[in-house]
Amino acid sequence: MNGASPATTLYAFSKEGTQALRRLRGRRLLAAFDFDGTLAPIALRPEQVVTPPGVRAALDRLRGLCATAVISGRSRDDVLNRLGVHVDYIVGNHGIDGLPGAERETAECVAVSQDWRAQLRGGEPLRTLDPGIMLEDKHVSLSVHYREARDSARACAQLPAVFAALQPAPRIVTGKMVFNLLPPAAVDKGTAMLRLLELAKARAGLYVGDDVTDEDVFRLHQPDLLTVRIGRDDTSQARLYLRAPSEIPRLIDALIVELSATGSQARSAAH
Ligand SMILES: [Mg+2]
Repeated sequence: MNGASPATTLYAFSKEGTQALRRLRGRRLLAAFDFDGTLAPIALRPEQVVTPPGVRAALDRLRGLCATAVISGRSRDDVLNRLGVHVDYIVGNHGIDGLPGAERETAECVAVSQDWRAQLRGGEPLRTLDPGIMLEDKHVSLSVHYREARDSARACAQLPAVFAALQPAPRIVTGKMVFNLLPPAAVDKGTAMLRLLELAKARAGLYVGDDVTDEDVFRLHQPDLLTVRIGRDDTSQARLYLRAPSEIPRLIDALIVELSATGSQARSAAH
């Protein structure tokens, strides 16, 4: 929480929310989005998640008006295969996978993840706890899924003791029925967002996300970064909220209205 008091979360389409969006008018902007639960609704299984046609069309309308990015917990290639529309930057693995300029950190993350994999003997001790626990090798990090465990509550309680034995100690990011094990050198979504803002030469940013790892962006509290959470949560550090991922096209269209008001200035932001 870095000592900051929780922001007052406002509905994005309230009077104050609309005013906050209006302040992006005329700025060189980077609009960045998380993928699962933000651009695409959560499905029962991660492999079933697809980008809704309305979201693809809205992102396509945004093209050329500002720089765009997706920062996801999935691998970069996985996002690339599911997105179905052009964006300027795709960064996977919570910030480390495909982030331009982070090659040294990426190489370090690959080495540590593969070392952990060896320490976990390919997941064998995990399956001894419960045969439904699955180790996913995401190359620069590892994910341990317990969605299919026979006793998921028990698996969730027991797994942290296994992770505690790993060297070096992982940064553990919990998700929906998953523990993500991130190497110490892994960049978080907040750092990734700051680097993308720099790369895009953006003077302002918009970031939309729905989960714990998105708080790394929300808690940056940069004056020129407007943050939006999917789903109201008054403990979140996000400035605005949307009620559901289905409101994403409306948010993008509201952004397009603001950026189109000053088309030529905004367009130069993308390049
Ligand atoms: Mg998400």
